[in-house]
Amino acid sequence: MSVGILGLQGGYAAHRRRLEQLGAEVRIVRKPGELDLLDSLVIPGGESTTLIKLMDAYGFWEPLRSLARSGKPILGTCAGLILLASEVINPPQKSLGLIDVLVERNSYGRQRQSFEATGSFCANGSAQELHMVFIRAPRIRQLGPGVECLSTCGGDCVIARQGKILVASFHPELTDDPGVHQFFLNMA
Ligand code: GLN
Repeated sequence: MSVGILGLQGGYAAHRRRLEQLGAEVRIVRKPGELDLLDSLVIPGGESTTLIKLMDAYGFWEPLRSLARSGKPILGTCAGLILLASEVINPPQKSLGLIDVLVERNSYGRQRQSFEATGSFCANGSAQELHMVFIRAPRIRQLGPGVECLSTCGGDCVIARQGKILVASFHPELTDDPGVHQFFLNMA
């Protein structure tokens, strides 16, 4: 089982550690051709505007959409969620449109207002508590009819899923809880 992590910018190293702890074989992806070797992909947090420029430069847009069309699971956290969303505001910017959610960038405040919280996570029919770290996080403002909310925190949906696309507005790779990554590996 080979899991790719988009390694253009941002927090890919922490995702790698977590996935390797769970026994996955991890590849850091820096060129679109490397997507062909994968069973699933993580798009980590970082700065979505920078990621967009690098995805333009390396020609990642169509290959990522085609990875999703082939049914391979994709997990997007924080900036990764912003890139996967169907619509982005504050300000509007282009995105892959692979999950039907409207997200507002930096909606919980600036870097200094980063915070930790506890939310509920409903994985495979059972609810569990999950520790969450939010860093200049996007807020999911609307979910389309085909989108399932798997976790809420403070009244917001913070983990959503549509088919094989899973997104989180926080950073599951920065806590001790492997629940979100394990759930993602089980989707593959
Ligand atoms: N604020 C960043 C953005 O809008 C996302 C922050 C993160 O990934 N931690 O792209």
